[in-house]
This record gives sequence, structure tokens and C-alpha cells, in this order.
Amino acid sequence: MSKIVMTTPLVEMDGDEMTRILWKMIKDELLLPFIDLKTEYYDLGLEHRNETNDQVTIDSAKATEKYKVAVKCATITPNAARVEEYNLKEMWKSPNGTIRAILDGTVFRAPIQVKGIDPCVRNWEKPITIARHAYGDVYKASEMKIPGAGKVELVYTAEDGSTESVLVHEFKGPGVVQGMHNLSNSIASFARSCFTYALDTKQELWFATKDTISKKYDHTFKDIFQEIYDNEFKEKFEAAGITYFYTLIDDAVARVMKSKGGFIWACKNYDGDVMSDMLSSAFGSLAMMTSVLVSPKGYYEYEAAHGTVQRHYYKYLNHEETSTNPVATIFAWTGALRKRGELDNLPELMAFADKLEKATIDTIEGGEMTKDLALITSLTDVKALNTEDFMKAIRRTLEGLMQ
Ligand code: NAP
Ligand code: MG
Repeated sequence: MSKIVMTTPLVEMDGDEMTRILWKMIKDELLLPFIDLKTEYYDLGLEHRNETNDQVTIDSAKATEKYKVAVKCATITPNAARVEEYNLKEMWKSPNGTIRAILDGTVFRAPIQVKGIDPCVRNWEKPITIARHAYGDVYKASEMKIPGAGKVELVYTAEDGSTESVLVHEFKGPGVVQGMHNLSNSIASFARSCFTYALDTKQELWFATKDTISKKYDHTFKDIFQEIYDNEFKEKFEAAGITYFYTLIDDAVARVMKSKGGFIWACKNYDGDVMSDMLSSAFGSLAMMTSVLVSPKGYYEYEAAHGTVQRHYYKYLNHEETSTNPVATIFAWTGALRKRGELDNLPELMAFADKLEKATIDTIEGGEMTKDLALITSLTDVKALNTEDFMKAIRRTLEGLMQ
């Protein structure tokens, strides 16, 4: 059988710990036998980030601007313990934060659904994708503890020195205060990424804020979304047969619970942080959640939503058996390969991505899965496999589909 040809490289960002082990297994078992894989390789493993003073992370993001599609392995975000463990020169920043700052995008997270791993909410027939705005609000706020009686004001000083102020509160006793901001540009990129992704995936887009209470702050989000929709996307949405729907956040939450799924839910930064954890656990498992960063300029970076699975890695280093779920990392690869195929007009590559996803799902639905899924599945007669054997089981299913 001749291998599937690629014309443009993917940006490959390798990572850390157990997911680095999975990364190599996925390439060896599931990709290289079938594809003439072209990648530009960047080693974002913590040791190499440290050696390059984190330049490699910046280079990998720049390469993504050049080639438009990247696939990323989970990476360690160093803390004090990691600085010691890896003898780091510095507590390097989160690679995802660095990449996001360069590509300026929105993160979309969607559960991978299989029969036998049922969502807690019975009526969710299709996945719900969360689009989280990744800039500002409470994450970049300034806060103050108010010790006692006194007045708090917000003051804006323009470049010409003129000022505008508004009273926050006349304190009679102690309390707290917080000042937060967002940027019209950032909100506009967020909106464009959401509309573009909805068109790409042919799904409805929902957006919600609390504009009835927050008449300036949240209302600005609502207005920017509406203006960009009307001016740039309305006709494309109508042609694609999809809709954009704005509602209040409390109404959205109630509707999500009653929905059948199958839409994108755009959330302000805090709402997205909270709601994505709710959705991933309600859909079954963090190991079954994909994540893609979509930049407003049309760059895509695919990854798994989980971390480097440190606990399993230490078992692996001890030569103990592991049962680490590779599904989200496999789907990061298939997402990137499919997008590459779409951009380069390579139907065979897109078909391969579909088959590898189907092989992964069929294997689980056929009763072979890793331990995390075996513990929660409603299927009976299930085999809980170790990491290598699950990979080999997917390989067998894939070979069947490739004939
Ligand atoms: P984690 O890697 O997501 O794992 C937490 C726990 O979730 C695991 O111990 C395991 O539970 C379960 N789990 C997660 N993924 C799994 C999988 N694929 N298969 C089976 N079980 C899975 O989070 P962490 O251990 O808190 O973080 C480890 C490192 O990851 C940290 O250094 C952090 O900085 C990094 N991180 C990176 C990213 C990223 O690159 N996008 C995201 C988050 C965290 P059991 O132990 O019960 O089996
Ligand atoms: Mg969170």
C-alpha cells in the first residue's frame, strides 16, 4: 500500500512526560505506517525549552503563522517544584500562554462522544463546544481591600489630561473593590474566531453575557458581536444554513441543559473557565476532550485538553504498567491532519483523519478501552487495556478500515 502524500508540513510541537510517550507511540503505530508524514518539529519538552531559554516556544508559534496548522503535545507549566526537578534557569511561562499571545486566538473545547460513555445529561445527543475568550476581565483585574469608611471612584485620564470619573461606592465600613477591563480589539478577534469556527464546523453559535445588569461592559461584548455578525458573517451563515443566537447568560445555562447539543457556546473568560470544566466532566472525562486554538487570521493549533499525566509517567519510569488514554491526543493529530488536507486540497489525507477517528471510536465501542473509560462505561464485557495494547487495538481496527 502506498503512503498518503502531504504537500505542506504541519508544525509539530512535542511535549512532556506521559503525553510525550503517547506522542511517539501515536506516530509509530498510527501515523507513519500510513502517511508520508511531513512535519516541522519543535521540541517543547521542558528540558529543551530550558536549553533554548524558551526561544523554541516562540519559534514554534512563528512557524504556525507560516504554515497555519500546528499539533501540540501537552507540556509542563513550570512551578517551584518543577524548577527544582528540572534544574531550570528560570520559571518559564506557560507555553500555551506564550503561543496564544503570539497567535491571538480563541480556544475551542469539544468532548469526543462514544457509545457507552454517556453524558450525565440524558438529552445531550451531540457534543457542545465551548469557545472561551482568553483575555482580560477578572483574570487581569486590579483589586483593593477597603479598610474602612471612604469613597472609591473609577477615574479615566485621557492622553490630553482630561478626566472622567464615576463613583463606585461610598463605603461606610470595610469592604472590597475590583477594577477590570477588556479591549475592543480583543473582543472583536474573539467574535471573528467564533463566527469563523461556526462556519468551519457548520454548527450554530450561541453567545451570552449579563448585559441587562452590566449595561456598558457586557453590553459592549453583545454590540461588538452583533456588529461583526451583521457586517461580515450574516450572509455566510445564511448560506451555510446556521444561525447566530444571543441571549442572557442565565437563559443560556438553562437552555444548554435542555438542549440536544451540537452547537458552539461562546463564553466570556470567566464563564468559559467554569463552564468548560462542567461540560467535560458531564460528558465523561478530560481524556476525551479536544482543544483547538483558532486565531482570527486563520491559524489553527490542535491539542488535548488534559495535561502531561504526571502520575502515570512516574509509574512508566518505574516500569509499572500504565493505562493512559491517548484519545484526545490522537484527535489533536486528526484535527490537524484534516485541516492540512482541507487547506492543501488533499482528500486522501482528510479521509485518513476520519478513518483514524472512526477506528479509535469503534475500538472503544467494541469494548476495548483504557482503565479511565472502563471504570465509567455502561458497556458490559469490557477489556481494560494498558497503554501499548490499546494503541495496538486501534491499529488493528484502523488496518481493517484502510482496506
Ligand atoms: P493532568 O495531566 O491533566 O492529569 C490529572 C489526572 O487526570 C491524572 O492524574 C489522571 O488521573 C487523569 N488524566 C488526565 N489525562 C488522562 C489521560 N489521558 N488518561 C488517563 N487519565 C488521565 O493534570 P496534572 O497531573 O495536574 O498536570 C500535569 C502537568 O500537566 C502539569 O505540569 C501541568 O502544568 C501540565 N498541564 C499542561 C496542559 C497543556 O499543555 N495543555 C494542560 C493542563 C496541565 P489518575 O491519576 O486518577 O489516573
Ligand atoms: Mg478552570
